[in-house]
Amino acid sequence: MGSLPSDAKIPWIQTPCVLSPELSQVTGCNIYLKLENLQPSGSFKSRGIGNFMTRAAAAAPDNLKVHFYCPSGGNAGLACATTAQSLGLPATIVLPTIASPLMRGKLSALGADVHSVGANWAECNAYLHEQLLSKDPGGIYVPPFDHEDVWAGASTLVDEARTQVEGDIDAFVCSVGGGGLLNGIMKGVLECTWHDGKQPRVFALETSGADSLNASVRANEHVTLPAITSIATSLGALRVSTQTWEHARDHPEILKSLVVSDADAAISCVRFADDARILVEPACGATLAAAYQAGRLRKELAGISGVTDDDWRQKNVVLVVCGGSGVTLGMLTKWRETYKSESSIELGQW
Ligand SMILES: *Cc1c(COP(=O)(O)O)cnc(C)c1O
Repeated sequence: MGSLPSDAKIPWIQTPCVLSPELSQVTGCNIYLKLENLQPSGSFKSRGIGNFMTRAAAAAPDNLKVHFYCPSGGNAGLACATTAQSLGLPATIVLPTIASPLMRGKLSALGADVHSVGANWAECNAYLHEQLLSKDPGGIYVPPFDHEDVWAGASTLVDEARTQVEGDIDAFVCSVGGGGLLNGIMKGVLECTWHDGKQPRVFALETSGADSLNASVRANEHVTLPAITSIATSLGALRVSTQTWEHARDHPEILKSLVVSDADAAISCVRFADDARILVEPACGATLAAAYQAGRLRKELAGISGVTDDDWRQKNVVLVVCGGSGVTLGMLTKWRETYKSESSIELGQW
């Protein structure tokens, strides 16, 4: 098993996939919630990063002292730290000095070695390579999204959902930052056999200001955004992975890129807290907004010609509740005040 300790545990869990009465009522079809917020790290990243790190440790020579290094002030750092704990191996997380005290506190509590350096992700990444990784023969770099093992880990949620949903899945809805999650879902959708050969559609959500996939689709080439201006910081990749862009370019019949406003993503988090009693980041609110925006999902899935209400009622859509730990009750209250007048999404009746 290389450098994987014999008592290493699998760093992610099988999550429930539950029918949501509230969201099914809002959309008029069957909405299933794949609850990735329940992962040990608080997001789906436990799957991809967990798989990457487990494989890397297993492949390392027996006598090597493996140590993981991840540049992230967010959920990737948390996934690295919780995975390291499950595997019984050490991890160092490098985050920018502006990273939230909330995330910094959570990382330290997990026993990770935390370095605060640099103004942004690029500076953290450079420091990590030059000051840490280059000096540690057992050092392993943990990529936040751009690696095959990360995608393979994320794809396990598609296999699970297939066995959890009664009947055919008509669509998956997920959020996109660098595209690790989306690549995993596309891998699952393309590689599984589907009943009658009917592959589910995949809707890829971004917020305006973090819309690097949508900008590429619009330009019909793989582009880099000049800056991130969205509050959904977990979606803040200036450029999606090459694989993500190629999926969008090569499979327009399956994959559709959609954009929502920060206001709609934020208010969706507030509404979801009331509806499902679950707290998620705006990065996840983007996915929820596709269901909360009146008529959006039906229009995107059924086309302009549409379907009858009865046909629509039979459709099964899986929302990947990607989760995220950068959220508190206090933040939700602030978002409600800041965005409620700007958002098209109705707050709950209660
Ligand atoms: C990382 C993250 C995303 C984006 O995932 P990618 O694999 O980078 O596309 C979305 N939501 C949450 C909560 C995340 O932590």
